[in-house]
Amino acid sequence: MTRNASCHCGALVLRCAGEPAKVSLCHCDDCQRRTGSLFSVCAFFPRTAITVEGRDAKVFRRASASGSDVAFHFCPDCGTTLWWEPDRMPHLIGVAVGGFADPDFPMPAQAVWDEHRHRWLELPEAISVHERNPVRKPPSG
Ligand SMILES: [Zn+2]
Ligand SMILES: [Zn+2]
Repeated sequence: MTRNASCHCGALVLRCAGEPAKVSLCHCDDCQRRTGSLFSVCAFFPRTAITVEGRDAKVFRRASASGSDVAFHFCPDCGTTLWWEPDRMPHLIGVAVGGFADPDFPMPAQAVWDEHRHRWLELPEAISVHERNPVRKPPSG
């Protein structure tokens, strides 16, 4: 199976082959600001499963809430962030699930940074909840 994700204007398209390795939801402040919504939903695909077509994306790089850098790729015309490359998992590419606009897309298995969740928002019980991000290393000392 191949699914296509595209930006708001359609100039940037990602072809994603096979099933995502993982689907994850994030409530962190950065994801709220990036999306303008209350959380982001990300499908991680193996790097080899992804083909980029169309417009050259621009890149915004920042540290993530989990501590390592992430490079966000967005459309220079409409500004949609369509995929990101986490330094922590160089073999995977995160794709914005909203880009598929597919109500049958697999639901997230986990939600991270629950401590930033908007209090009125309740998720299905099948999603495992983490107060922070389970990969975060405890501060030393
Ligand atoms: Zn666009
Ligand atoms: Zn986040």
